Amino acid sequence: MVRRLLSALLLLAVAALAPAGAKNVILMIADGSGFNSFDAARMYSQAKPVYDGPEWIRLACSTHPLNLSSKPTNSGKQTRSIVYDPAKAWSLTEGYAWLKSGATDSAAAATALATGVKTYNNSIGMSDFGKPLTNLHQLAKASGRSTGVVTTVPWSHATPAGMVAHNLSRNNYAEIANEMVFRSGVDVILGAGHPWYDAKAERKKVPTADFVGGLETFRLLAGQKTPFRYLESLEEFEKLANGTLDLMGKTRVLGTARVGETLQQGRPGKGDVKTRPPFADPLNQGVPNLATMARGALQVLARNPKGFFLMIEGGAVDWANHANQMGRMIEEQLDFNDAVATVVRWIERNGGWSKNLLIVTADHETGLLWGPNSATKPFDPLVDNGPGKMPGMAFNYTSHTRSLVPLFARGAGAVQLLEFAKRTDPVRGPYVDNTDVFRLIVHAAEL
Ligand SMILES: [Zn+2]
Repeated sequence: MVRRLLSALLLLAVAALAPAGAKNVILMIADGSGFNSFDAARMYSQAKPVYDGPEWIRLACSTHPLNLSSKPTNSGKQTRSIVYDPAKAWSLTEGYAWLKSGATDSAAAATALATGVKTYNNSIGMSDFGKPLTNLHQLAKASGRSTGVVTTVPWSHATPAGMVAHNLSRNNYAEIANEMVFRSGVDVILGAGHPWYDAKAERKKVPTADFVGGLETFRLLAGQKTPFRYLESLEEFEKLANGTLDLMGKTRVLGTARVGETLQQGRPGKGDVKTRPPFADPLNQGVPNLATMARGALQVLARNPKGFFLMIEGGAVDWANHANQMGRMIEEQLDFNDAVATVVRWIERNGGWSKNLLIVTADHETGLLWGPNSATKPFDPLVDNGPGKMPGMAFNYTSHTRSLVPLFARGAGAVQLLEFAKRTDPVRGPYVDNTDVFRLIVHAAEL
């Protein structure tokens, strides 16, 4: 306790000396990853994650939406019963049932992070009155910065879309993709969802093009007839990351990896994928990993002397947790951790922590992941079985929960978060709300 207090005082003292002044802001989201998904990956790898150090602010974050409607209710009122409540969340008799009800979806969560406004589930940047909300991408653009979104799932999916687009429903993929390509002004879009490739990264006979805005939009993209330098091969992604890709005189970049909905998570496995150990099934070839895409985005965005806002999503942690696939979840979380480490190295070579703000969090928990006996013993802890061994754990749900998620932040203005953390959870400690991430970024980057 004394140590925690001292380190908080130290952070405040450092903050008093350093102006917020974040030139660049990078928000990294492990989709559907609660405290136990982060912990499971750490146990498996036995490596201390790069965000686990005294220089980092470590908090929890609440994620509940405004209401449980799937369309605007025209009220704008917070449904009180779904607000995170530690007493209910940790109840040994009713906690699981309470956590399983009233959860956010990724669209409402991304909207809250990007606009500071809670809304109904399904909303891509729209209020409960069905009106477009101003997001961080728009604010960053107005300040002269560049912006980008990067993900391991289709680039028009809920989280990247919620950062930059506006639509009444996340399911209108083609509309959202077309907004992102033709009207959003986003500078970098990188992700999966290629119309001609499947979950194994193999060529299909019949395309499915909604994720890229339909076949006509795809034809324009692939023909280099949009404002974007379009890319899709692994070689091109690697060249982009190394700064050697010919941008054909363009300043904006859009990349669709040659794979279906996820870079790796959806590839078939031998036997029951739920219990397959991490990396037991050969990885898809011909697709980049999240770290390579992150480096590519940074190469492009760093050209703007006024700075940038970049969102990087480990999108398929959520897909693995929905499917209760322990090994795939660890793979995706480790891929996310590699991307965080890559971003940290970039920051340390590009202005350091006084010029950059990095936030690492999740949009919600998925799967109610707890220890091996958690079905009968609520909140049974994970069991660390050593390096390279699957931790003892069990899923207790196949969808999203209201559990608090971890939040790590470091760099220019990050200390402001301590002021937002007014509530305390008996298990997770002080916590902020997902809307506070928006407030933090606006403050730190003076948007
Ligand atoms: Zn999500």
